[in-house]
Amino acid sequence: MALNIKRPNGTEDVLPKDVHKWHTVEKIAGEIAESFGFSEIRVPTFENTDLFLRSVGETTDVVQKEMYTVMAKETKFTLRPEGTAGTIRAMLQNGLLNEALPQRVYYKLSCFRHERPQAGRLREFHQFGLEMAGSESPAADAEVISLAKTILDRLEVKNIELYINSIGCPECRAKYHQALRSYFEARKAELCDTCRERLEKNPMRILDCKSTICQEIGKDAPIIIDYLCEECGDHFEKLKKYLTNLGIEYKVNPRIVRGLDYYTKTVFEFVTTEIGAQGTVCGGGRYDGLIEQLGGQHVPALGFGMGIERLLLVMEKQNCRFLTPKKCDIYFATMGEPAVEKAMQLAKQLREYGFFAEYDLMGRGIKAQMKYANKTGAVFTLVLGDNELAEGKAKLKDMETGEEKEIMLDDKFTGSFDAVYFDKMMDSIEDAETVGAFQNLAEENK
Ligand code: ATP
Ligand code: MG
Repeated sequence: MALNIKRPNGTEDVLPKDVHKWHTVEKIAGEIAESFGFSEIRVPTFENTDLFLRSVGETTDVVQKEMYTVMAKETKFTLRPEGTAGTIRAMLQNGLLNEALPQRVYYKLSCFRHERPQAGRLREFHQFGLEMAGSESPAADAEVISLAKTILDRLEVKNIELYINSIGCPECRAKYHQALRSYFEARKAELCDTCRERLEKNPMRILDCKSTICQEIGKDAPIIIDYLCEECGDHFEKLKKYLTNLGIEYKVNPRIVRGLDYYTKTVFEFVTTEIGAQGTVCGGGRYDGLIEQLGGQHVPALGFGMGIERLLLVMEKQNCRFLTPKKCDIYFATMGEPAVEKAMQLAKQLREYGFFAEYDLMGRGIKAQMKYANKTGAVFTLVLGDNELAEGKAKLKDMETGEEKEIMLDDKFTGSFDAVYFDKMMDSIEDAETVGAFQNLAEENK
């Protein structure tokens, strides 16, 4: 009977054949974040709705249109639409900000937004993200941008541009809001309904509207850089200097304002044109006021979120490399009950040693077992039957070369197998000796 319950629109299943792609991104991004002093944090999937209203902002698309909120008894909860709010809440609630600064955390998590599903835009998507709290220095901005860039480079992603902008602090923004208001006021009738409302409350949000008319009108709007106060202007100049010092190419894009209200000063995006309209793979910036807004002290902070699905779309499009999924190291083909029992014991020993060992669980004949081993890409096979058990030795077959080696079925079996396995890996060392993080692969696949 066909299953007539399908997965919800805008969600995806990650199948075993593809999961190594996710592991590649998560592993490499995590390792790089750790090399910059970040540690992993894990936070709840849902939070009190108020947390997002107060941080993401009431006039943003996310809050106005995209949140999944449930009423449970008397309390409103929302599935997290992004990672920063919950992470900062956790840092505050657990006193992390009273410890040595800067505090640096990274996360891999799912986010939920009720958007119109399309390529690169899902209702449940995943982010690799991080937050650094405690530093107001533009060196911290350069550090966080450089971290994102290092991840993209290590994953060998190409043709991706870094856009930066500064959206100032509340002081410079007040003047800018005035200028924006008078600009949009003149064309108010043409704006979408949501933006007409935004005009009073938060005119900068109009620049982030997805409607083509609003975007068109926004093109000639005043730009924030012209309104930066001295401090914000200096901060931005220093950031640019540091990026140049790090050899990181960037373009200043005064149109980037970001879709969440909590940003101040630096905002940035890594954008590619290779995966269609949803080309922003990573977005982030500084949010110096957020921690205070959530009830903490004044602690400047910044971070970014990288969309894993979009990143994988780019990597697939560009034929980037992925860590290879582990194949079966040894498959025991068995004939008869005593052989099955021997295979069980040998597999148990090998697994304790870290090998991937398998034997027949399907009651197949020997030919079908070998076919299965071949199809699933087993590196070695070992045929076990009454003769092998009686003689205490068997033939270990290299499935790639067809070469066979005799191996004793005694208590040195695991060591003997390890030696043969090691020799084979040494022969293919050139494959394993690839750049960067891919180097670890050979060891792990030992
Ligand atoms: P966009 O302008 O594309 O809607 P955003 O400004 O809403 O992006 P952020 O809140 O900054 O996005 O989220 C950070 C990253 O998460 C984005 O750069 C993107 O890679 C990813 N992302 C955001 N929304 C989605 C979604 N609905 N589906 C898949 N990935 C997403
Ligand atoms: Mg969005």
